[in-house]
Amino acid sequence: MSVSQKALMKFSQEIEKAENAARIRLFSKASKQYEKLAEKARELQPEIAIELQFYSILYRLLDEIEDGKDPMKTGTVSALLRLTPQIGDRRLVMALPGGRFGEFSTFRILRELKAIETMAIGLSRNDHNMLRQAVDLFMNIGDEMLIFSMYLSPLKRRITGRRAALECEGYAQVIEGARFVDEDPSAAAEYYMMAVRAFRSARLHDKEAIYQNTLIGLRVELTCWICGRRVKGASHLVWMPAQVSNYFVKLLEENKEDVRSVKPNRLVVCKPCYTAISNEALAQARKEAARVMARVQELERRLRRLESTVHTMG
Ligand SMILES: [Zn+2]
Repeated sequence: MSVSQKALMKFSQEIEKAENAARIRLFSKASKQYEKLAEKARELQPEIAIELQFYSILYRLLDEIEDGKDPMKTGTVSALLRLTPQIGDRRLVMALPGGRFGEFSTFRILRELKAIETMAIGLSRNDHNMLRQAVDLFMNIGDEMLIFSMYLSPLKRRITGRRAALECEGYAQVIEGARFVDEDPSAAAEYYMMAVRAFRSARLHDKEAIYQNTLIGLRVELTCWICGRRVKGASHLVWMPAQVSNYFVKLLEENKEDVRSVKPNRLVVCKPCYTAISNEALAQARKEAARVMARVQELERRLRRLESTVHTMG
């Protein structure tokens, strides 16, 4: 038996040990063993070096998940994704989150991690184009249940590829719509409507409710009591306390004006009218405060003079 054959036999025994460590879910140990084996393989068996490297990073990722770390932030997910061009699509026996062990496609694993990473970056940068890319990546996985979604931000739940795609679609619409909220509430409402639909299909009912509310606000259209302009969007309107007797409600009705502009003890004004009034009121209040302050100081001076007079007399 030649030396190299002996070395190869020992090498394959070591691979078996690393496999066993992964099988019994000692991920930190398995990762370190595979890392050393990948080094060795470059001389002994270069064709499997990339697989051993894949295992080493995959098990580091699993170890981080069990440790409560975020493999997206530690850089482990990107390290694994960097192997994509070299490893291509291979079927490998691997341990995966949730106690899975068996043969899986490297493509399937990398595709899912790429989708989750793209979603995370898209959300952190408020980038609707990246979120659309994530939609496509998740759609490729389709109705299959995701493997890592339970353990990785921003999903952190059991979900199919299709639902994750719908969630990304919802966020993309929200980001696009947000650009129009001030300038064009009707255009913004179109985006938010699609976001609400996407979140509903993704079964994210809390998000659906939040953006349904935004949508209701965007569709509000009322007449400013002061300048009489029709104004769209709740963020452009302010309800102010005021005395509004029935006389004024009737007056609006008689003039065929918008009766929704008043409520008992409140009326609606547009933001420019509101800020003009409140700025003026604030300026007046400051002047008044300064006047009162000057008066108080004058009284204090008089009091001190009086005190010293009493003192001298005593
Ligand atoms: Zn106004």
